[in-house]
Amino acid sequence: MNNAVNDFMNLISERNNGESEFLQAVMEVAETVIPFIEENIRYKNSKILERIAEPERVIMFRVPWMDDKGEIHINRGYRIQMNTAIGPYKGGLRFHPSVKISILKFLAFEQVFKNSLTTLPMGGGKGGSNFDPKGKTDNEVMRFCQSFMSELFRHIGPDTDIPAGDIGVGGREIGFLFGQYKRLCNEFTGVLTGKGLDWGGSLIRPEATGYGCVYFADEMLKTKGDGFKDKTVVVSGSGNVAQYAIEKCLVLGAKVVTASDSNGFIYDKDGFNTDKLAFLLELKNEKRGRIKEYADKYGSEYHEGKTPWGIKCDIALPCAVENELIGDDAKELIKNGVQCVAEGANMPSNPDAVNTFLENKILFAPGKASNAGGVATSGLEMSQNSMRMSWTREEVDKELKDIMHSIHSTCVKYGQDGDFINYVKGANIGGFVKVADAMLAQGLV
Ligand code: NAP
Repeated sequence: MNNAVNDFMNLISERNNGESEFLQAVMEVAETVIPFIEENIRYKNSKILERIAEPERVIMFRVPWMDDKGEIHINRGYRIQMNTAIGPYKGGLRFHPSVKISILKFLAFEQVFKNSLTTLPMGGGKGGSNFDPKGKTDNEVMRFCQSFMSELFRHIGPDTDIPAGDIGVGGREIGFLFGQYKRLCNEFTGVLTGKGLDWGGSLIRPEATGYGCVYFADEMLKTKGDGFKDKTVVVSGSGNVAQYAIEKCLVLGAKVVTASDSNGFIYDKDGFNTDKLAFLLELKNEKRGRIKEYADKYGSEYHEGKTPWGIKCDIALPCAVENELIGDDAKELIKNGVQCVAEGANMPSNPDAVNTFLENKILFAPGKASNAGGVATSGLEMSQNSMRMSWTREEVDKELKDIMHSIHSTCVKYGQDGDFINYVKGANIGGFVKVADAMLAQGLV
């Protein structure tokens, strides 16, 4: 490791002792951005990366709520307000038992670079709770959301901090959160994104992360004169991002053979079609069931407790959760001929896997580039809310495509290395420059 990276990481590790996910995310950025900073002395002397790695504000609060039987539960709520150099804090809320400060800080840190790459004026933030919506009734989820917002509302606002969904926070939860914000503030504003279409939401927002990830992968394949047609795709996850990534792969003529949840994965040799995808959406979004039920219905293989990376494919789209794809998985994918890996999730590939892809010159896109379509479309939802109008599906989809194209161009600009494009380097430096320049212009902030 370069000495400057080593010194920087020692400092960050001391200050954030034991926060492994956060340190992993900072390290990935430091490795590519610090050599760039060393050549650009104005960033070095002003300690910009050190400042970006320290949240502007961390909010932590109690969330008491009552279940349907009258029993009281206490969860912990958080909002990490990471950086406002280029716009108000923007980033999702995650409700999952694994939520802790290290995970939210890693997500907020990534969000700063991702939002910068979108070309839209959005700073970075992230929040959530260790509450698990799984197995809870709608009424229990509503009471939790109301209690959560009863504290969060004083820290957010349409010009301050605009949360959205993430794992465990979909349309239902955004509705409950928005309703409570409105009661407390007596104002109907675009304080959250991912809203329902009839009350301020944007067309294409639910689809945007999955679609955007496939648009980005398509741009990557184009650099090799290739595309999705007739390719075999392995997808992990079966939530929001995975569902719409699968849909767009089908539209582009590819065959998607897997989907997963935290219990295991299904392998459908014949591939998804529109009926099977409709079944998956209903299973996951309405019935809130398990992926195994897909295998039971269609007679496909089900692998309990496993991830899908051993299945032969041309393209892999990890769309579930951080660190779900490790070094051995990367080797297996390469052995089986994978050409392109685009992350739909945040940091799904661990550092070993990332290095393996890069060393083998696989087309590899980090989530901060390839999954930025979701937050970009949230930015478009904010614009529509401010103008009090709604754009058509075609208009939003075109904007999304253009933004993914522009993020790809930024990655090429900063990541081209001979005939290889290092998208990790490209995304990190491309995201960094805009935030760093804004911070320099704004004095010692
Ligand atoms: P979601 O709708 O809640 O779906 C999450 C999926 O991941 C589910 O299939 C879930 O399975 C699976 N999963 C969760 N924990 C897992 C584990 N430990 N092992 C294996 N699978 C696991 O969430 P999402 O919005 O699709 O988010 C997925 C990823 O994309 C996250 O990394 C998120 O940060 C990222 N992302 C989302 C957006 C967005 O707009 N939604 C934007 C950018 C990035 P279960 O049903 O078993 O929980």
